[in-house]
Amino acid sequence: NAPGTLRDVFLAGRAHGDRTFLVYEDDRASFEAFSRATLALADDLIRGGVEPGDRVAIAMRNLPEWPVAFFAAILAGAVATPLNAWWTGPELDHGFTDSGARVAIVDEERWARIAERRAGYPALQRVLVARAPAGPGTESLADVIGAVPDWSGLPEGRVPDLAIDPEDAATLFYTSGTTGRSKGAVGTHRGGACGVMAHPFSAARAFLRRGEAVPVPDPSAPQRVALLSIPLFHVTGCFATLVPNLFRGGRLVMMRRWELTRALALIERERCTSAGGVPTIAFQLLDGMVAGTHDLSSLETISYGGAPAPAELVRRLRATFPRAQPATGWGMTETAGTFTHHQAEDYVHRPDSCGPPLPVCEAKVVDPEENALPPGEVGELWVKGPNVVAGYWNRPDASAEVFRGGWLRTGDLARIDSEGFVTIVDRAKDMLIRGGENIYCGEVESVLYEHPAVVDAAVVGIPHPTLGEEPGAVVAIARGQEATEEGLRAFVAERLAAFKVPVRILLHDEILPRNPNGKILKSELKRLF
Ligand code: ATP
Ligand code: MG
Repeated sequence: NAPGTLRDVFLAGRAHGDRTFLVYEDDRASFEAFSRATLALADDLIRGGVEPGDRVAIAMRNLPEWPVAFFAAILAGAVATPLNAWWTGPELDHGFTDSGARVAIVDEERWARIAERRAGYPALQRVLVARAPAGPGTESLADVIGAVPDWSGLPEGRVPDLAIDPEDAATLFYTSGTTGRSKGAVGTHRGGACGVMAHPFSAARAFLRRGEAVPVPDPSAPQRVALLSIPLFHVTGCFATLVPNLFRGGRLVMMRRWELTRALALIERERCTSAGGVPTIAFQLLDGMVAGTHDLSSLETISYGGAPAPAELVRRLRATFPRAQPATGWGMTETAGTFTHHQAEDYVHRPDSCGPPLPVCEAKVVDPEENALPPGEVGELWVKGPNVVAGYWNRPDASAEVFRGGWLRTGDLARIDSEGFVTIVDRAKDMLIRGGENIYCGEVESVLYEHPAVVDAAVVGIPHPTLGEEPGAVVAIARGQEATEEGLRAFVAERLAAFKVPVRILLHDEILPRNPNGKILKSELKRLF
């Protein structure tokens, strides 16, 4: 049946037995081995005093211990609290003090960043460090579960007998902090379990739409193999990749961090059937395909989301690699990952869209007076569904601002066509108004991407004394290609109204600065003007 809790997801995963689940460098763990390690850790957490509702922080890179820590916290009834592995001191301080985590499961690098600061986290009672011996104030995670090759030899373990309701808090994920300080979003068990509908397991959606049980995959069918190149501490990595693969018996080839040549080698070695993550990764995979240095013929799907994906991306993917289906989606930390999903012919025919909402979800577009707008009109996107989080942790002010009678105000501007396909036009905060005319950065960026020399583009507002703001652009030019500011402005002017043409275009020879979630850091780019 459709899983109602993340514990149900774990139990479904456990049933996949000795199939390989996690691959990391030379380590391989079966579903069974993963399950034994997870139950051993859950038991240890409970013995160590973790009570339902306690926060268990997970601060590490993509290691096989990450999913173990996540599901162990869940099975112990705790709220799994993944912290961004890129965070440094003050951001980690925010994560630990804001969440009030009682236990932290970290890797050595994260421990090195917080060891001196720990005194400032009064709630923190236990620190388990992965892949390191116990030191002052810490315990070794390996003392509880051993190293990955030992996992299959651990005792079978019992699933803790706790009452878990689908509406209980299960996770605390922090937003990317693109528009300000990261906020903790409290996700429910049901919301996390919605991840089973994520691509490429979208077949499950048809069953859920009809209210039917999702069939268990045929164990003799070839296993799906996903390249996990995005961080598990973001919702796309966790809910749209880890959760569906665990539930449906897919294999995860884990990368500690994204790196193109390593990714190409892994796709070839492990015969990955899907890869992707954020649009930047898809663009880089395209380069890898064009270079033709690796055999990528196993790829069936290239999926990406989380940041604007220009229509040009799907066109280039189709032209270069027709065997692999491009797929995209829109989602937020506040929607526990994928909320809309777009693939196959639908996507090729509507390359600007990010697809319709998942079957159990609803979306609408509203005007500033909060009235719903008819199809095709641009307004703020509001969403509703079981995957929408319960609220922000410790932030009643921020919660009151965005949760409205069961709807979540997304802060994104969008339009929805008569068939329900959603197109994101901009973040409300990024849109600029030039002398009363609206300019959506995404529209101008898409046109810049159509230029053959452009590999990356961002449009930002430059302050103007009378017009308010004017558009400026920063673009990255492909190696070996030529482009000039005037040439690019003329290119845009042929395709868009004059007021939308960037008054200045700065040429960069590197990919633009992004946060680990693939989002361009527009505030940094604004400073260039
Ligand atoms: P913060 O809320 O802390 O400022 P953030 O909004 O970047 O940070 P996330 O929850 O990681 O944090 O990102 C959600 C946002 O990402 C969405 O609101 C939207 O602006 C953007 N986004 C996600 N998917 C897409 C997409 N397919 N196309 C365009 N934008 C997208
Ligand atoms: Mg946001």
